[in-house]
Amino acid sequence: MRIGVVGGGQLGRMLGLAGIPLGFEFRFLDPSPDACAGAVGGRLVAAYDDEDALRELAEWADVATYEFENVPVRSAEVLEAAGAPVRPGVEALRVSQDRLDEKEFFHGLGIATAPFRAVDSREELAAAVDEIGLPAVLKTRRMGYDGKGQAVLRSPADLADAWEALGGRPLVLEGFVDFRRELSVIAARGTGGAIQVYPVVENTHEDGILRRSRAPALKVSDICRVGANRIARAVLERLDYVGVVAIELFETGDGLIANEMAPRVHNSGHWSIEGAETSQFENHLRAIAGLPLGSTRVSRPAGMVNILGTLPETADVLSLPGAHLHLYGKEERPGRKIGHVTVVDGDAEVVRQRLDRLLHPPADPADPAPA
Ligand code: AMP
Repeated sequence: MRIGVVGGGQLGRMLGLAGIPLGFEFRFLDPSPDACAGAVGGRLVAAYDDEDALRELAEWADVATYEFENVPVRSAEVLEAAGAPVRPGVEALRVSQDRLDEKEFFHGLGIATAPFRAVDSREELAAAVDEIGLPAVLKTRRMGYDGKGQAVLRSPADLADAWEALGGRPLVLEGFVDFRRELSVIAARGTGGAIQVYPVVENTHEDGILRRSRAPALKVSDICRVGANRIARAVLERLDYVGVVAIELFETGDGLIANEMAPRVHNSGHWSIEGAETSQFENHLRAIAGLPLGSTRVSRPAGMVNILGTLPETADVLSLPGAHLHLYGKEERPGRKIGHVTVVDGDAEVVRQRLDRLLHPPADPADPAPA
């Protein structure tokens, strides 16, 4: 099976690592000659909208997928026209590229979101703030990620700066959600319609970037578990989806609120490589290749921390029992995701302590690791 992937970052690289044992071959289309997925497959160095390169990829591949949601819709259409089925499909890509379309899509399925208004002018911003109230979050509709392209409005005085920073592009104003915690639900759907849902994950963000995930999330009520499942299934079925989807949720006193969805494998599912019976990467590949899905059961409580900006000492990480280091082969740069560490243990509290130690290393590395 030949898999053509648009994008050659760490998600593509981990897809390759999961697919090689299945006998799959990979080719990654990415504008960067250094794209880190090149370690696990061929590289096609071209812009994401280079139609000749897309056709070359489609002619080589049995199936095409993408590892980030800002691939132009037109590119997915070119791949399909050149004979490679694109999974997940073009509609999933289109909906998840635009925060306004995405929220309207959720509403159409009866899934709660923060209140929102489209904002295309300074006057519309003032009107939207009047309707939604403060605090609120102003976001670009397209191309935002890891907290980029957004501004929190706490008082009317913040409007001018936020407009200065973001105005001129299509925007959406969202009510600020006073959440208890952030969760995500990751699920896979196969070509025959079978669905597997991973247990709900608890996520902590700092400055809009995912810092840590824990799986399964602790103290998930039955209502929350059922609600997350229902949301994942509704999204997958409405889009006739094939592959893995991730939906970011806020848990509030009034239930779950959907924030956004990613039509791809997701950072909050990286723990599944060691912590689940079948990783999100393998299940994405099984799905798009038309193979049976694997169990999404958590085999051991797991947690993950992202490595941002600076590489840790490999030996320090590996001295921690149950820790698994994943480096993406990317250059160090402030704030950049360059790897992650997963910790697994039979005891969720031990996992928590070890994640804390990774996030806040002791001044003296000789301090004993939590038992
Ligand atoms: P996003 O790019 O939408 O995933 O936002 C990045 C992070 O900003 C989220 O994970 C939240 O921590 C925070 N955030 C985004 N939207 C809201 C909101 N409407 N209310 C409160 N916090 C938010």
